[in-house]
Amino acid sequence: MTTASRVLPFPFPQPPFLPGWVWLVGAGPGDPGLLTLHAAHALSRADVVVHDALVNTDVLCLARPDAEVIHAGKRGGKPSASQPDISNRLIALARANKRVLRLKGGDPFIFGRGGEEARALVAAGVPFRVVPGITAGIGGLAYAGIPATTRETNAAIAFVTGHAASGTVPDNVDWSALAQSASVLVIYMAVKHLETIVGRLMAGGRSPEEPLAFICSATTTRQRVVTSTLGRAVADRDAQGVEAPAIVVVGEVVRLRETLGAWWDPAELLPALSESAAE
Ligand code: SAH
Repeated sequence: MTTASRVLPFPFPQPPFLPGWVWLVGAGPGDPGLLTLHAAHALSRADVVVHDALVNTDVLCLARPDAEVIHAGKRGGKPSASQPDISNRLIALARANKRVLRLKGGDPFIFGRGGEEARALVAAGVPFRVVPGITAGIGGLAYAGIPATTRETNAAIAFVTGHAASGTVPDNVDWSALAQSASVLVIYMAVKHLETIVGRLMAGGRSPEEPLAFICSATTTRQRVVTSTLGRAVADRDAQGVEAPAIVVVGEVVRLRETLGAWWDPAELLPALSESAAE
């Protein structure tokens, strides 16, 4: 048996969260346990938390009781704040000398417009830090019992978005080339334009028999996984009432869910949650 040669103080040394700074922080896909230590530390220090609709607000219990909480996403049918509005708000809060925590679902730099926000901060001369998070396309696959890679199935994996800023399927993706190059595809925001996406992948040579899974509300108590095939995906989406947020994963790895999918059962969390609520 070996032992740790050095015992680190816990919590680990953390960078100071200084007033006037913006931290762009990933909150992970849903399960609060998937927050990083840096994210938990930032929550405990922030004066103001600006979060998206996809962030599990349970994590806000780690925030200071007097922290201001701003919801910057869509809710109750109201339109979401525009990207320039959000960036300007972050800049104004930082200039008011607040410790600003911009909390985003998953990882801030994966299809989350964190890059745009960081550029706006640089342009405004506002200091910032980035705390990566577990993206839904990694955490969701793990909680669905679908390994993102195995030596037998795939030596490549592609992260793709099915929805461009224009509201359509992105036209800067060469879907045939993608179909030929990465054997596992992890597609974000794919539910709405699924028909076009699976059509392009099959036109690019992917078999209609290829396994596909929808992982909905991944890593939350509402997680639901629907398995299908490329050819049946649209019919199954409609018949099973698949709803966003969902990750679509295409490839042989999906079959491994038959053996590995039982490891995480969201229902197990419910008694634990009601116990903690009763405490
Ligand atoms: N930055 C985020 C992605 C934002 S784009 C990340 O790294 O995860 C929003 C899309 O992410 C959703 O439409 C959906 O495709 C996916 N997504 C985010 N959270 C999810 C979740 N808990 N379950 C399934 N899909 C999720």
